Amino acid sequence: MRRDRFHGQHQEWGGIGLFLAGLCVLAALLAHALYHVQWDDTDIPNDWFALPAAAMDEEAKEAMMLKIACLTFDDGPSGHTEEILSILQEYDVPATFFVTAQGVNEPYLPLVKTIAEQGHQIALHSASHEYNQIYQSTEAFWLDIKALRQALSPYVDVESIRWLRFPGGSTNTVSHRYGGKGIMKQLIQQAEEKGYEWIDWNVCAEDATASHPNAGRILKNIQRDAKGRDLCVVLLHDTKATGQTVKALPDIIEWFQSEGYHFTTVEEMAAARGLQNGTK
Ligand SMILES: [Zn+2]
Repeated sequence: MRRDRFHGQHQEWGGIGLFLAGLCVLAALLAHALYHVQWDDTDIPNDWFALPAAAMDEEAKEAMMLKIACLTFDDGPSGHTEEILSILQEYDVPATFFVTAQGVNEPYLPLVKTIAEQGHQIALHSASHEYNQIYQSTEAFWLDIKALRQALSPYVDVESIRWLRFPGGSTNTVSHRYGGKGIMKQLIQQAEEKGYEWIDWNVCAEDATASHPNAGRILKNIQRDAKGRDLCVVLLHDTKATGQTVKALPDIIEWFQSEGYHFTTVEEMAAARGLQNGTK
């Protein structure tokens, strides 16, 4: 199975993969998607993944030649998480979940344990996901991350979580309103100092926009952004409002497979591509 192949490689690469995996800046292509309406994601492409293969064995080099798709689900867990998991299981596809711990999804928080047990990657997003709070200052941001880690700690080994995704993306400008123009730059630097890896996305499903696209539209959005890319980091959402994402998911998976992509988690992808800090 494709998935096993990557899992096997991942184990072989072991520490190399996880800890060499570094600063990953993906293009935020959220042009007209106004996720959460007040969000203002940027659309500056950044082909950070055109990278040299560092010291890699033959198997790793071969993996670099593969087309890779990383399905990433933000803002969960939610009432849709179990459906998402069951589809991923059916297709034997790994994914990455950038989770939150808001009031609205707190009843579903224990599901992070199931997500992890099924071989998916748990990564940090935000506890409150409230821009006016988390981006008020760098201190406020890290307090929110601390709260998220605490909320997750009964269910998963939070010490092993190394990846995060900034709400709105690393180049969002909404944060400037609350924390000043330099806040994202500061947060990125601090994240790296704290040993976190962070990642945006370069394919956007636009599944959480105010227009509430149907499953067919979501698939088309993905196909549009994925065109010509060997590496797709796909932004999807796992919330109460994104039932159409669940509906689209089998078609999304089948389309990527028909285009010759292999699915991996974000950390597996970073390992396979030999990403390192400073390769931006
Ligand atoms: Zn989010």
